[in-house]
Amino acid sequence: MSERTLSLKKERNYGKVWLVGGGPGDPELLTLKAMRVLNEADIVLYDSLISEEILAMLPRKCTRIHVGKRCGAHKMTQVDIQKLLVTSASRYQRVVRLKGGDPFIFGRGGEELEYLQKFGIDVEIIPGITAAGGCAAAARIPLTHRHYGNALMLDSGHSQFGEYEPSQNPTRVFYMGVKQAGMITARLLGDGLHESTPVALIINGTLPDQEVLTGVLMDLPNMAQRHTGSGPALMIVGEVAKFASRNQVQAHSEAVA
Ligand code: SAH
Repeated sequence: MSERTLSLKKERNYGKVWLVGGGPGDPELLTLKAMRVLNEADIVLYDSLISEEILAMLPRKCTRIHVGKRCGAHKMTQVDIQKLLVTSASRYQRVVRLKGGDPFIFGRGGEELEYLQKFGIDVEIIPGITAAGGCAAAARIPLTHRHYGNALMLDSGHSQFGEYEPSQNPTRVFYMGVKQAGMITARLLGDGLHESTPVALIINGTLPDQEVLTGVLMDLPNMAQRHTGSGPALMIVGEVAKFASRNQVQAHSEAVA
């Protein structure tokens, strides 16, 4: 934490912010954790995609602000939302930013996290069921199938400027890939990925014994070899993996010698 961040935190006694995934719409697809945090919230800033049924479940005492596409007559920009989050955290102890689906999948959760952390504000992410999972289940489409599809692409469908561009820097998430880490690395390097592309290896994710190892693509085979335990592990390859080393308490790239 920089000195500036520390002094901001000292000057203002900020509350905590939860970035909460509200799921695809069906209130029963909210997680237990999301429900608990919503029940304890002092203020909830929510998007247009949040369904009426979910809003009806918020505690009466909490302040709610619709920061969706149109708030009153004015469009609320992302920057305005971020500023409002900081103001809210300076007034309230428990601030919830409730988003449709999952906050880290096309939800600008990353931008909000970065902004809040500049003020030294404590942020926790509560994942939600993303639209892809919810809609596929509703339509009975298996998103992967051993015989028909062994990878899944989630694409924003438009660039920052509106048009569609096939993604140049996708985030790759490998399930079941730890044993093949050497082969995966070689193939990705062969495909033109830079050897310094950030990677994260997450073992026993979300559990009390979670371990997050971070490094760069070149390190991935070594990192995978360190995973000798029996817990499940997931590998994330892509620029976004660098967030892990900045934000995860458990992450330490020194572990990846
Ligand atoms: N963070 C969200 C996505 C936000 S982007 C998530 O993880 O799901 C908003 C887009 O998600 C919509 O334009 C639509 O394409 C999709 N979406 C969200 N909820 C949906 C639903 N209930 N049914 C169909 N598509 C949905």
